[in-house]
Amino acid sequence: MAGGGAGVGCEIWRMELKHWTFGPFQENTWLIRSADGRGIVIDPGMSNAAEEARFERDLEDVEVVGCWLTHAHLDHVAGAAYIARKFGCVPQVAKADAATYQQAPLAGRVYGFEIADLPEPTWCDWSGRQVLDCLGEAVEVRFAPGHAPGHVVFVHHEAQWVIAGDVLFRESVGRTDLPGGDAEVLRRSIERELFDLPEEFAVHCGHGPSTTIGHEKARNPFVNAAGSGMMQRG
Ligand SMILES: [Zn+2]
Repeated sequence: MAGGGAGVGCEIWRMELKHWTFGPFQENTWLIRSADGRGIVIDPGMSNAAEEARFERDLEDVEVVGCWLTHAHLDHVAGAAYIARKFGCVPQVAKADAATYQQAPLAGRVYGFEIADLPEPTWCDWSGRQVLDCLGEAVEVRFAPGHAPGHVVFVHHEAQWVIAGDVLFRESVGRTDLPGGDAEVLRRSIERELFDLPEEFAVHCGHGPSTTIGHEKARNPFVNAAGSGMMQRG
């Protein structure tokens, strides 16, 4: 099945991945869609009525049945209230990102970015690694802090992709100057939770284009596999 619509076209297991780019921070919102027409939205970043309408148009007839967060920075939760209101799905987020979630509306105001009142989420005990049931398929959640204290990534091993949020970007890494950020922790998360995946795995990022594990191991100037990146010196 080909991915499509607004998304990166991906040939994957039985599920289809789509993405949209929303808001002033150009955040990537992902949708995992099963063959039976159900979907889980990851990091809903739609920030106004026009973006909500674009999301609904491109959804076609997918029934959104879940909402997962890689982390709770304001650009990744901007559409959480809308998803809860429209589809009845509150976000599932790691407990370790509780402070980030609670601070998101205030952070929004600092950036001149109004966020609707966030719904009470489902706090998940996501630490280490565990396998989640994702519309009948196995998706592994891996704890990968450093950009945010409760950041996780979602790995579909059969389909060979990881939704990496703001941990790793194409030839860049997530910023570590926000509350709870830590560059050394981020570097360790990338090496332990991402660079142990096979090189052909696609990396779908919270901002910017997708990449692969192999490309980042070879070319990422911050955390290349040779250990000579900017975050690996001194
Ligand atoms: Zn972030």
